[in-house]
Amino acid sequence: MRKIGVLTSGGDAPGMNAAIRAVVRKAIFHGLEVAGIKRGYTGLISGDIVPMDLGSVGDIIHRGGTILQTARCDEFRSEAGQDKAVAKIKEHGIDGLVVIGGDGSFRGARILSDKGIPTIGIPGTIDNDIPCTDYTIGFDTAVNTVVEAVDKIRDTATSHERTYVIEVMGRNAGDIALLAGVACGAENVLVPEAKYDIAAIVEKLKRGAARGKKHSLILVAEGAGKGFAIGEVIRELTGWDTRVTVLGHIQRGGSPTAFDRMLASKMGAKAVDLLIEGDQAKMIGVQGGKVTATDINEALCTPRSPDMTLYELAGVLSI
Ligand code: ADP
Repeated sequence: MRKIGVLTSGGDAPGMNAAIRAVVRKAIFHGLEVAGIKRGYTGLISGDIVPMDLGSVGDIIHRGGTILQTARCDEFRSEAGQDKAVAKIKEHGIDGLVVIGGDGSFRGARILSDKGIPTIGIPGTIDNDIPCTDYTIGFDTAVNTVVEAVDKIRDTATSHERTYVIEVMGRNAGDIALLAGVACGAENVLVPEAKYDIAAIVEKLKRGAARGKKHSLILVAEGAGKGFAIGEVIRELTGWDTRVTVLGHIQRGGSPTAFDRMLASKMGAKAVDLLIEGDQAKMIGVQGGKVTATDINEALCTPRSPDMTLYELAGVLSI
């Protein structure tokens, strides 16, 4: 192993920069060269590849987004596109690759490994929807962003005695809604992993109102339904002043939390270790506090679900 390439792909997530930094610095520490590939697989196909040194990752550990930029690349889904990427990797003398992204990006990483390019995946997505890791880079920051926003909404909800439906991100995973729901003391949390019954939710809201509650917060994971539609049904069934906020892309930005910076630093360093050891087609994770490496095929096939004890807890603590 003489030269390592690093790219970020798919949806961005706070902490990706910290992961890039860790890959670059750990590789240089071991005497390797590093190439930064711009815009994920798009830059791999077009050859938008730049040398990276210690300074090129200075002053980025605290920044959201990704200095390498990211993209969704349809051309890379075709074999012709993949072969172009492999040719560019060889042309640039890259011996191993680190792909920071979500499950789509890992499918690409597996293909590159199958084509003889040792590739390691680092899970970077706010959704926390990747199996074989307890946390993905960016998730903790997104949860904290949601908590901060919901706390602010709570202030105005209390003043005006309103019900708020707040839709949060997560694609098909309810992790953001669950953790933020518990942390914000939401009355109801709707996640795709559990069936819900609007009539029961309304009953609970009415019970709360009967004992003097002045406001209610309902967190909806985007995979569980549309906030505006749910708000409309609640308004109809209660006759209450019900407002809806879709938090949207603020959840993808911002300075990464200390937790995400730590996670990214550990995962980036581990990815380089694996490549140096001659390993490939692995995904880095953190399980039970330990940094792990799982076969990328296994990571792509394993079913996952969030910690559903949190779902029960959210229900119990908001009776
Ligand atoms: P994420 O990595 O965040 O899940 P995407 O699913 O959009 O984001 O995947 C990012 C990129 O990975 C895609 O634009 C595409 O270039 C590549 N990719 C995704 N799925 C595949 C696949 N099945 N085969 C090859 N490349 C893929």
